[in-house]
Amino acid sequence: MPEQIGFVGLGNMGHPMTSRLVGAGHRVRAYDVAEAARARAVEAGAVEAATLAAAADDADLVVLMLPNSDIVEQVVTDPGFAQALSPGTTVIDMSSSEPLRTRALAARLAERGIRMVDAPVSGGVKGAERGALTIMVGGDDADVARVMPVLETLGRPVHAGAIGSGHAVKALNNLLSATHLWVTSEAIEAGRRFGLDPEVMLAVFNGSSGRSGSTENKWPNFILPGTFDSGFGLRLMLKDMRIAVQLAQQSGAPSRLGADAVDLWAEAADGLPATADHTEVARWIADEGAG
Ligand code: NAD
Repeated sequence: MPEQIGFVGLGNMGHPMTSRLVGAGHRVRAYDVAEAARARAVEAGAVEAATLAAAADDADLVVLMLPNSDIVEQVVTDPGFAQALSPGTTVIDMSSSEPLRTRALAARLAERGIRMVDAPVSGGVKGAERGALTIMVGGDDADVARVMPVLETLGRPVHAGAIGSGHAVKALNNLLSATHLWVTSEAIEAGRRFGLDPEVMLAVFNGSSGRSGSTENKWPNFILPGTFDSGFGLRLMLKDMRIAVQLAQQSGAPSRLGADAVDLWAEAADGLPATADHTEVARWIADEGAG
């Protein structure tokens, strides 16, 4: 059934997701602070929301695809936006946010009859374009059931648990992904200096136990060709790793390798431009070793 959807955050991920929702027949009112991003959404068939409040007005659902929890909270507590949300509306935070802050925000919204579900994603820009994202959903059974049909137009939703669970498992996934990418890049650089061909190494790893998303996707598609254009920023990856390690520390779980991985990625972030793609970490590792 077509829904009236407000969509806030039309960046690398939000743009293709908006296009998928429009393609599935939903009426999408799209808002971003960047005017160019709003214009791009209109080209994809969405209606421009000139203000945050206009995105929330009359919406059955409001999707947020924003950089982090600070900005999610800023948007949700914006007076115009908050006032425009009606009781019964469901806010779906698809950003990679902080699970405890998500729980607190959901409780605040619930006081006004507004429901909240967290539904961060994995699969990158290509997954968003193809409607093939893995979607990690947190929320009450009824709220999750309510938003499932819309999420299914974007990918494969998995109900992970109570509110905040999607954000927790998403951060943990990215801690794994980033740690794999770092050690894969070190291993390939070591092999290259020994005289091995990176393509041969990748073929071997991909048929062996060293296989991961880094060997199957990131190295062959973005690093070996030298394009470094996955569309996922290095600083966004570092944010997710910090959320995961904080989660471990708050619960007293061991996080020694995770904490070290955060330190390494933070060093790379300091050495690379603010806009660097996360796959540029491989280049940084090779260059650093050369220095
Ligand atoms: P992005 O930086 O490309 O897009 C974020 C958008 O939010 C920008 O267009 C920006 O102008 C807009 N924005 C910022 N502040 C705003 C505000 N106050 N009001 C309205 N709009 C505002 O980021 P992205 O790569 O699309 O990532 C979005 C979220 O998805 C992040 O939490 C990220 O960690 C997560 N994520 C990204 C990828 C990826 O491959 N890029 C994959 C999975 C998850």
